[in-house]
Amino acid sequence: MHVPFCRHRCGYCNFSVVADRDDLMQRYLAAITRELIEIPEELKSAPLHTVFIGGGTPTHLPPEPLNRLLTVVREQFDLSELREWTLEANPEDINDEKLMLMSAHGVNRVSLGVQSFSDAKLDVLQRGHRGETATEIVRQVAARIANVSIDLIFAAPGESLGGWQRDLRIATSLPVRHVSTYALTFEKGTSFWTRKSRGDLVGVEESLEVTMYDSARAILAEAGFSQYEISNFARPGDRCRHNLAYWQGDPWLAVGPGAAAFVNQTRTVNHRSTTTYLKRMERGQSPVVESEPITAEQHAREIAAFGVRLIEGVDLHSVQQQTGVDLRELCRDALRQLRVQGLIAESGAHVKLTERGIHFADTVAAAFL
Ligand code: SF4
Repeated sequence: MHVPFCRHRCGYCNFSVVADRDDLMQRYLAAITRELIEIPEELKSAPLHTVFIGGGTPTHLPPEPLNRLLTVVREQFDLSELREWTLEANPEDINDEKLMLMSAHGVNRVSLGVQSFSDAKLDVLQRGHRGETATEIVRQVAARIANVSIDLIFAAPGESLGGWQRDLRIATSLPVRHVSTYALTFEKGTSFWTRKSRGDLVGVEESLEVTMYDSARAILAEAGFSQYEISNFARPGDRCRHNLAYWQGDPWLAVGPGAAAFVNQTRTVNHRSTTTYLKRMERGQSPVVESEPITAEQHAREIAAFGVRLIEGVDLHSVQQQTGVDLRELCRDALRQLRVQGLIAESGAHVKLTERGIHFADTVAAAFL
């Protein structure tokens, strides 16, 4: 469920967001409520196992609209088997009132966009909060909703290895159960991309980026976080069930601007622009602008491509049972090549990244597609 509102647009962000457009909130609430209500009954009858409300910044909604949003989710779905309900939050606008509201509705996991505990790095990333605020907020959230995940960015312009290690050490000293960490990327269309193209912004050397990644793996492991995916680390029992469901090829519904769903072997994508999404919903039109049937072969390839990014690897026999497609046969040459390059290890039908392969996960994943 995509909530597109943000205070301002961070320079590296390529998501479907609207910055400083709180005037659209009421229209958004009406539109998303309608979209939720209009999901066919047969899709709502199956109990949901996970809910993820992301953005954008869901916590940018004031308490009353946030309450309405959470209420409509509870009204429209069978949550009797819900295992995990995550809400993304920004340290800038989460407070006790919103936390109590979230907890009362059943939100049991908070994903905080911390990104760093260093003021200088936060400034480079154009984030509005301070490092000290982030540490306080992590504690405050954990006191209300124990399952806290944080996002951390590394390889920001000007960042040193020591600075990154400090971020990691602060993170591991806090009541955090899950860490997602990504190297900063310069996406086309963002202001960071333009600044980088002009030479105004310089990313870190690739070798330093690799060292930073390895350092994250070492420090998080030492602190009791196990790496279960290329970019994700969790304390025992705290892997993100929602993301695992995506990666394992389970079906999911999606609502809001730019949201992509996978249901009945079909991928659909809503219009990315919030204003166009609103207009379409207000005119009684569908928000969907793309609809693509996914063949069994595509599905199998995608499950393998995501699955191989999991540290425990992917079982191609299970993929065949799930989809009817034998990737061992279809990808025989690619798999042989990856094995020769030392990027994967195979045991029967089970394929996993080697230590070297972990650094080339995108190459390995692409071989399945
Ligand atoms: S807060 Fe997050 S979603 Fe919003 S602009 Fe910044 S990076 Fe993008």
